Amino acid sequence: MINLILFGPPGSGKGTQATNLVEKYNLLHISTGDLFRSEIGNKTPLGLEAKSYMDKGALVPDEVTIGMLKKKVQENPDVKGYIFDGFPRTIPQAEALDAMLMANSQEITSLVALDVDDEEIVKRLLNRAKTSGRSDDADESIIRNRLSVYKETTAIVAGHYEKKDKTHTVNGVGGIDEVFGRLAEVIDRSLVA
Ligand code: ADP
Repeated sequence: MINLILFGPPGSGKGTQATNLVEKYNLLHISTGDLFRSEIGNKTPLGLEAKSYMDKGALVPDEVTIGMLKKKVQENPDVKGYIFDGFPRTIPQAEALDAMLMANSQEITSLVALDVDDEEIVKRLLNRAKTSGRSDDADESIIRNRLSVYKETTAIVAGHYEKKDKTHTVNGVGGIDEVFGRLAEVIDRSLVA
C-alpha cells in the first residue's frame, strides 16, 4: 500500500493537488476538512460540534477527529492506499494514525509538505472565499488564526515523520501542473527508496 500525507498550511493547495494525485496513484483521498463539512451539511451532532471550532479557525478536538478518520478508513479497506489531507494536524493524531496503520502491518510511506508563504496564503484564501462560501476563508483574522495554529501545533508533525526520514518539502508556489510535477517527483522517489 501507498499511504501519503499531504501536508502544508491552509490554502497551500492540498485539496487541489490531492485530486491530481488520486488519479496518478489510484489512492483514496481522505480530507478531514471535507468530512467535517459534509457532517455540517447533514446537520449531524458531530458536524455541529466541529462547526463551533472551525468557525473560529481552531482545531476540532483530537478525539472527535481521530474517531471520524478511523471510521472512514475502516469503511474503505479494499484500496491501494490513502492520501491523508488535513490529517494529522497534531502529534496525538499522528500517533493514532501510526498505530492504526501498524495494526494492519502498514505505515506512512511519505509526508509531502507544500511550502507557501503567509502573504500568498492570505491572498489565496480571501480569493477562494468568493466561490467556496467558506466563512473561515472570508475573514482575515480567522485566516491568521489558522496560520498560527498551523505553526504552533501542526508544523511539528512534519518533524515527527522527519525522524523516520519520511518528510519531503516542495515549493507550493507556481502553476498547478508545475507544483504537481514537483510532488510526483518526490513521491516517485520515495516509492523506490
Ligand atoms: P484548510 O487546510 O484550508 O484549513 P481544511 O478543510 O483542511 O482546510 O480544514 C478546515 C477546518 O477543519 C480547520 O481549520 C479545522 O477547524 C478543521 N479540521 C480539519 N482537519 C482537522 C484535523 N485533522 N484536526 C482538527 N481539526 C481539523
